Amino acid sequence: MKNYIKANYHTHTYRCQHAIGTEREYIEAAIDMGIKKLGFSDHIPCPYKDGYVSGIRMRMDEAPEYVRTIRKLGEEYRDQIQIFVGFEAEYIPEFFTEQMHMFKNLGCDYLIMGQHFWVSENTGPYTGSVTEDEGRIRQYVDTVIEGMKTGYFKYLAHPDLINFQGLDSVYDWEMTRLCEEMKEMDIPLEINVIGISGGKHYPTERFWEIPGRVGNKVIIGLDAHCVDNMVDVENYENAMKFVEKYNLNLVDDIGL
Ligand SMILES: [Zn+2]
Ligand SMILES: [Zn+2]
Repeated sequence: MKNYIKANYHTHTYRCQHAIGTEREYIEAAIDMGIKKLGFSDHIPCPYKDGYVSGIRMRMDEAPEYVRTIRKLGEEYRDQIQIFVGFEAEYIPEFFTEQMHMFKNLGCDYLIMGQHFWVSENTGPYTGSVTEDEGRIRQYVDTVIEGMKTGYFKYLAHPDLINFQGLDSVYDWEMTRLCEEMKEMDIPLEINVIGISGGKHYPTERFWEIPGRVGNKVIIGLDAHCVDNMVDVENYENAMKFVEKYNLNLVDDIGL
């Protein structure tokens, strides 16, 4: 398809327990749509020390099979599409060293940051829950910046996941600070397509006006959790409306 995304680095698999469809189905749908580069970035497993078992991500011991499966399919479909494997990860210092050890051992290609939590998910809070607490938006911005400084992440998924409903001036101040730092580090910001199709609070106009002003690199991510998300032309076009409206600097190469 002519006017559709050519590279998507934000794809989940059934392993995270809240996505469905086989990798092969995602790949074949992507090929049908004319996508040239497809990256799998399932939710990174966390090495919980307290016996907690997550219901929204794979376990650490499932990661090798995840990488192996996608590498095999990458070989099989290599003449039609380029396949990459990585993770969507929070930056949580408590887990990060061990996670990066795993990431390197498995020979993964890339990481994107999706800061759904800044402490473990079993303690919360979820970044997307409504808050008027200025401390929370500040902490979100601080943690994202600190995580990006590790140099591991290729882009920031749904930067506008934080759902701060306090003073507009605080939102603007903190998110401008975020965008300026991301620009300095040359980190693209993602317009999240499933946020649109799922009717979530992101992408939000009040955020995307800021990268337009700051001049950030911007990327579109399908954040596919099912095969239908891979072929969602209508909401891809809705994401493109943000690009046009705020004159955003759209890229699709993350240097893989
Ligand atoms: Zn996410
Ligand atoms: Zn995601």
